[in-house]
Amino acid sequence: PFEVLVVGGGPAGAAAAVYTARKGFSTGIAAERFGGQVQDTMGIENFISVPYTEGPKLAAALETHVGEYDIDVMNLQRAEKLIPAKELGGLHEIVFANGASLKARSVILTTGARWRNLGVPGEAEYKNKGVAYCPHCDGPLFKGKRVAVIGGGNSGVEAAIDLANIVGHVTLIEFDAKLRADQVLVDKLQSMKNVVIITSAQTTEVEGDGEKVNALLYKDRTSGEERKIELEGVFVQIGLVPNTEWLKDSGVELTGRGEIVIDEKAATNLPGVFAAGDVTTVPYKQIIIAMGEGSKAALSAFDYLIRNEAP
Ligand code: FAD
Repeated sequence: PFEVLVVGGGPAGAAAAVYTARKGFSTGIAAERFGGQVQDTMGIENFISVPYTEGPKLAAALETHVGEYDIDVMNLQRAEKLIPAKELGGLHEIVFANGASLKARSVILTTGARWRNLGVPGEAEYKNKGVAYCPHCDGPLFKGKRVAVIGGGNSGVEAAIDLANIVGHVTLIEFDAKLRADQVLVDKLQSMKNVVIITSAQTTEVEGDGEKVNALLYKDRTSGEERKIELEGVFVQIGLVPNTEWLKDSGVELTGRGEIVIDEKAATNLPGVFAAGDVTTVPYKQIIIAMGEGSKAALSAFDYLIRNEAP
């Protein structure tokens, strides 16, 4: 068995593994796809001290850094079940899709999250070519341009307010007849001069010239008419889904939205089980935050292991 098993190989998992390995603990990382969401990212301009990098390059750097230590990296392993230790200091078990299972005295869960997609024609084709999901990451790429934000919940309206300060024009598209965001956010958005809000609108297609996005098509759900907006960017804000389906019956406390509930030390409700990054309740999902959280979870695992002998 490992002293520490990290489940997930994104920025949070890589940071956690480097930290526990540096404490001299036997450490494993099991990940479905090492690198995580970073593998799907183009330009990264907010990883402080690195003015510009690209996702696959950063993912390779994570792998190199992890490779500097005696860490057992198990890629292409999908965890399906967590069986918590029966007694304090005992072994937790992770069961994988291939039937194998691994045991560890401490587990760090870093299985991340995924953006909910619209599922309309053009969305996948123009991902990173005008279709974006993270305003903090990609907002500045659309400086002075026209964008749409799809989704009128809190994240959509926050994104629209954020973008309206950077881009030329923002159209907010909401499927329902009214925005679901907090009134204070809606008031703020409505006060902005370069914003148009369209409700009862079903996005039907993202159009482009083969290289870049140039329009968004939607159906007016009241009249049934098809409409077209010319623009350069589309931000999809219809939800970030934590990868915790596999933890449903494990006893790990999740919120209604499926995020792992952690305290300020990255501890879950189960002793010896920690969690970090996009999969948790930590606010703001970013690479630099995931790495900080992963490091924090690792130091908490260290603290747990030195205080709780194996039974
Ligand atoms: P993830 O990166 O999601 O990694 C999760 C890991 O867990 C992966 O290895 C995955 O394969 C694995 N996993 C999932 N389920 C299982 C399972 N059941 N069993 C085993 N392994 C599993 N952030 C920025 O700071 N700057 C940016 O410019 C930026 N741009 C982005 C662009 C895009 C297109 C996307 C999608 C995200 C972007 N982000 C950006 C957000 C950033 O990528 C995430 O905040 C960060 O990757 C979260 O790290 P994480 O380690 O918590 O999770």
